[in-house]
Amino acid sequence: MAPRCWRWWHWSVWPRTRPPPARSTLSFRQHFSTQEKTPQICVVGSGPAGFYTAQHLLKHHTQARVDIYEKQLVPFGLVRFGVAPDHPEVKTAHSDRCAFWGNVEVGRDVTVPELREAYHAVVLSYGAEDHQALDIPGEELPGVFSARAFVGWYNGLPENQELAPDLSCDTAVILGQGNVALDVARILLTPPEHLERTDITKAALGVLRQSQVKTVWIVGRRGPLQVAFTIKELREMIQLPGTRPILDPEDFLGLQDRIKEMPRPRKRLTELLLQTATEKPRVEEAARLASASRAWGLRFFRSPQQVLPSPDGRRVAGIRLAVTRLEGVGEATRAVPTGDVEDLPCGLVLSSIGYKSHPIDPSVPFDLKLGVIPNMEGRVVDVPGLYCSGWVKRGPTGVIGTTMNDSFLTGQMLLQDLKAGLLPSGPRPGSVAIQALLSSRGVRPVSFSDWEKLDAEEVARGQGSGKSREKLVDPQEMLRLLGH
Ligand code: FAD
Ligand code: NAP
Repeated sequence: MAPRCWRWWHWSVWPRTRPPPARSTLSFRQHFSTQEKTPQICVVGSGPAGFYTAQHLLKHHTQARVDIYEKQLVPFGLVRFGVAPDHPEVKTAHSDRCAFWGNVEVGRDVTVPELREAYHAVVLSYGAEDHQALDIPGEELPGVFSARAFVGWYNGLPENQELAPDLSCDTAVILGQGNVALDVARILLTPPEHLERTDITKAALGVLRQSQVKTVWIVGRRGPLQVAFTIKELREMIQLPGTRPILDPEDFLGLQDRIKEMPRPRKRLTELLLQTATEKPRVEEAARLASASRAWGLRFFRSPQQVLPSPDGRRVAGIRLAVTRLEGVGEATRAVPTGDVEDLPCGLVLSSIGYKSHPIDPSVPFDLKLGVIPNMEGRVVDVPGLYCSGWVKRGPTGVIGTTMNDSFLTGQMLLQDLKAGLLPSGPRPGSVAIQALLSSRGVRPVSFSDWEKLDAEEVARGQGSGKSREKLVDPQEMLRLLGH
């Protein structure tokens, strides 16, 4: 039996393991009546959505038991595999009524109907694991990567460890102007010695040390008022050591007059962009910029049209951008092509135009257009007892705080339904039935204490080189370390 514990984590300080509850000391009658009052709930996915939904359920129902199934061998979703290594997060909590079952891919190892049979309620929190395709010619050329794969590569996601990006070119282009685009630009341009103490993988750091990339263009199809990144991330770019920004003052003409009407976050962001683009830096800053050997720039009103091949057709040599203008007002502002194009030479293209969820099981409704499970505040439409939270519920935008709030709301809806008698009554076998099924299929889940062993190993391996941890990236090696 896996230890019933979970904690939301601190990157460097880890709480002690709690022992599993002494369930065997209950008499049969006690056990039966406990089970009757014990809602068995299952959560699919151990990212922020899964953990925060579980946290809400455990906090507001003193009997509920929650099992979290996760396809990776390790928990935490994008907090481990997405958040940039130079952005550590800090949060901790734990409960002995929650178990983690890693190495279990729902939809492959066990189906959603099987989970629904075993539990009173199932919450789908499996995130958005695919990337939005560019759908332009040349997208498949070597040297073109999704930001999703690139991020997975430097963050140790096992499936992206073979990526081997060639950074021998001078110029890289990132398509999209969201926070992921800035993360990727920052990692490409940060002096490698500044990444040495983070948990970036050894292999990625080795490649970044050899990088010849000097200029990174971050390309948006709309204008400076529509950028999707936030001020903290922009400020980090502006202050990046050894790097200078390239912003064309012409792109910002007339914006000063419009700043007054903007909502505060957009106002502050635009002010910083304007200041960087148009104001003369102070002496010290000017000296820093003059000595910078690397640069990043924002290109606006450019929509990707075609990836251009090298003369031998074997890799990317540039990108053709359609020049755009804006139509419409407010949120509805759209970029429409003017008919002009611009070719931008580059040796690396990273497409950062968003993540995408996929359907998990034919029995679960899925809106292919919006890329979400249709739901009403987390209740999956037309499927009683099935819920969703996080990016698969509302689409691939929002920070951990946003995901936390919508996960709490889903938890609240589930508990309301439970109280109203809308969930199946009578005991449900929960993980006992699912473990039997998995075992018959040759699937061996890993527990939270298994993860703690892997965690200890990662921390120990990092210590030698002064890193917070050296992530294990090979699932076979991880299973060997666990004696599986
Ligand atoms: P995820 O975190 O993706 O978790 C989904 C989990 O489900 C994963 O563990 C996955 O392995 C698992 N799963 C998927 N399919 C299955 C299956 N079939 N069976 C079992 N398990 C499955 N927010 C911030 O606040 N700060 C940041 O610095 C920050 N940086 C980010 C950097 C990047 C590159 C990205 C993409 C996002 C970043 N965010 C950041 C946003 C934040 O990561 C998201 O808001 C949050 O992770 C969404 O949570 P989620 O649980 O819905 O999805
Ligand atoms: P995002 O914020 O939605 O940005 C996507 C970008 O891609 C936008 O600039 C968008 O432009 C552009 N785009 C979309 N489709 C396009 C197309 N077909 N052609 C050209 N451009 C296109 O997504 P993201 O950067 O992947 O980030 C996802 C979420 O994670 C965000 O909420 C982000 O804030 C969060 N996150 C946070 C952090 C952090 O807190 N440090 C770090 C990373 C990510 P349009 O606006 O014109 O559509």
